[in-house]
Amino acid sequence: MSDKKIPLLIIGGGPAGLTAAIYARRAGIPVTIWEEQFLPGGQMATTPEIENVPGVFKTDGFMLSEIMTKQAVELGAVIENLRVTDFLLQPGALIARSGDISLEAGAIILAMGARRRKLDITGEDQFAGRGVSYCAICDGRFAQGKEVVVIGGGNTAIEDALHLANLDCLITLIHRRNEFRASSHLLDSLNAESRIKVLTPYIPVAIEGEKTVQRLHIKHVESGEPDTLEISSVFACVGTVANTETVKGIIATDGQGRIIAGEDTETGIPGVFAAGDIRQKPLYQIVTATADGAVAATKAAEFLRKK
Ligand code: NAP
Repeated sequence: MSDKKIPLLIIGGGPAGLTAAIYARRAGIPVTIWEEQFLPGGQMATTPEIENVPGVFKTDGFMLSEIMTKQAVELGAVIENLRVTDFLLQPGALIARSGDISLEAGAIILAMGARRRKLDITGEDQFAGRGVSYCAICDGRFAQGKEVVVIGGGNTAIEDALHLANLDCLITLIHRRNEFRASSHLLDSLNAESRIKVLTPYIPVAIEGEKTVQRLHIKHVESGEPDTLEISSVFACVGTVANTETVKGIIATDGQGRIIAGEDTETGIPGVFAAGDIRQKPLYQIVTATADGAVAATKAAEFLRKK
């Protein structure tokens, strides 16, 4: 039994969820979004600089999140600050719960996105929030002017390192390979930044300190030679993990935990759609997340109409 029933519930207020809400409202469907963070936007909200959204020359993720949220809300979407805890997803009974609160929906769009992957090394949990960070935008100001490490070789690592350089940090960027998977545009900016020293191929081994982070032990990938860096913060940017724990065993996921759904965003359960980084796809970007959101809302509208 649920507390009430609504036509469309969207779980997650990142670019996929917000776009789905915009498209659903424009199709005249009442829509509620459950977003666990006080400010919607998901990973986009903590992206320092965005230059690859067509039509938007240059912005930051917080600004873009605010605009998308405003668009959805002004069109009539209701955003509730709730974290989904579990689902009952059966044909004819689609129910989401957040603790004691439950909501039945005619259709559900899963857009819970992804979170930063942990390093899985000694000291990481002990110093989380005391020098270990997964968000340079959120925690960079605590490291202003200090020596820090950024770990990873993707777009997030380079963007975060560049953001920290703007905060006058001295950055050592550690990556496990000599080649970076980040886009060449970002790599050009990296090469032009004198405050970032690149160290490859190295992996982090352990984080140590007293009350807060003081040093990072690293190891050369080929020779195994150990080294130690005296730093005050470690920013982990080693990829993402899909937030699919609540649908485990209910909806098919791949080896990485991403939902297996086609370009039509259909999950195999009638009325349940998956959009954005939660879905297995070849490219994880704001534009592909928003595209998913638009498709999912259109498919959900079609499903509700047929019902
Ligand atoms: P990512 O592209 O998956 O890169 C993760 C990086 O961490 C890789 O360089 C990987 O090394 C390294 N890594 C993974 N596990 C590791 C471990 N245990 N120890 C050390 N290093 C490890 O992740 P991301 O940078 O967070 O980006 C996620 C997605 O969002 C990507 O599709 C990305 O393109 C997209 N994104 C786009 C933008 C943009 O367009 N501006 C910005 C941010 C993110 P290997 O390279 O050796 O695998």
